[in-house]
Amino acid sequence: MNILVINAGSSSLKYQLMNPDTGDVTAKGLCERIGLDGRLTHKVPATGKKVEKDIPMPTHKEAIEAVMAILVDPEDGVIKSVDEIDAVGHRVLHGGDKFVASCLIDEACKQAIRDCIPLGPLHNPANLMGIEACEKAMPGKPQVAVFDTAFHMTMPPKAYRYAIPTKYYTDDHLRRYGFHGTSHRFVSKRCIELMGGVENAHRVIVCHLGNGSSLSAVKDGKCQDTSMGLSPLAGVPMGTRAGDIDTCVAQFIMNKYNMSADECLTMLNKKSGVLALSDGVSSDFRDLDAAAEQGNQAAQLALDKFAYEVRKYIGAYAAALEGLDCLVFTAGVGENSATMRASICEGLEYLGIKIDPEKNKTRGEEAIISTPDSKVTVWVIPTNEELMIAQDTAALCK
Ligand code: ADP
Repeated sequence: MNILVINAGSSSLKYQLMNPDTGDVTAKGLCERIGLDGRLTHKVPATGKKVEKDIPMPTHKEAIEAVMAILVDPEDGVIKSVDEIDAVGHRVLHGGDKFVASCLIDEACKQAIRDCIPLGPLHNPANLMGIEACEKAMPGKPQVAVFDTAFHMTMPPKAYRYAIPTKYYTDDHLRRYGFHGTSHRFVSKRCIELMGGVENAHRVIVCHLGNGSSLSAVKDGKCQDTSMGLSPLAGVPMGTRAGDIDTCVAQFIMNKYNMSADECLTMLNKKSGVLALSDGVSSDFRDLDAAAEQGNQAAQLALDKFAYEVRKYIGAYAAALEGLDCLVFTAGVGENSATMRASICEGLEYLGIKIDPEKNKTRGEEAIISTPDSKVTVWVIPTNEELMIAQDTAALCK
């Protein structure tokens, strides 16, 4: 089976053609600068081939057409005809409280995604453009929407409600939704499999630490709480996002610097986080590691603050789950940074978390990094959101 996985952003579109049973990726690539000029980067992992082309992409429609054309290209392509694509799976950011699982795309599903635009104003319109472009390029091809929020819909009200007047929840649907749900689902499911069943992994905390970061508390495979909120701005500090912050900080800045709410939010989303704490060194954790190594105090503060806030969430979620069986690290930082994992787990022995420094040297592959006598099994499990999307798509199209 061939599933085309699409992740459409406002000016970019990522794609992977993959087998949902084996996880093998036949081709993958990226359309950039949609609406400006247009650039396609296409890779064929089996041969190592990489093609880069400037192609006009005034809208997502031309981007999808360029992807279709290169996939069937006699020289650079990997399939003979678009008929060889069985179905298309789309990453969709916000499913609001309408979607608790992935769904086959029809008019009602598209309308529901449209209805969620006020909750995901930056991403949902782009996701819809990707869906509609595929409908035009491949009429009648089954398409599935996989929501970043769906996995978190099992949270109880005490976790998802904000302590503000009820009408903002009932009339405006303002509540905690959480994101990276496809990753949290993939990784927690894999953790349970690796532990030999849910009986050995009742209480799992997943730390998805990348450019954007979030944690989730998972009981018997179901999400109980997560660190992101109505939007991905909440939770731990991230590459450029502030994370949890007293709302009065925003009010003070808006008043003093005559900033609009949107301008202030742009600052909190794009100019804050470890980038700001490091006084502009970088939002990339590799650069921060290098700068801290050279003695840069601000970079060290950014790393310390990040580890501290992640550690606090682990403590909070261990309390929420009434104990802990497994702690899992995933995504760019979680999979690759031994120093960050060690720093986060420092001082958590009282929770039963003991890291083995040798095992912790692992990078980018499934491994236990705790000691044999650690009460909590600590894992590194690489995430694969595209595979989860492809598997959901295949299951719904059967
Ligand atoms: P995104 O949220 O964009 O999907 P990723 O999950 O790809 O992000 O994570 C990107 C982050 O992972 C970057 O900040 C990068 O510095 C970090 N990262 C990747 N490799 C390492 C490493 N070896 N050490 C520290 N950080 C790393």
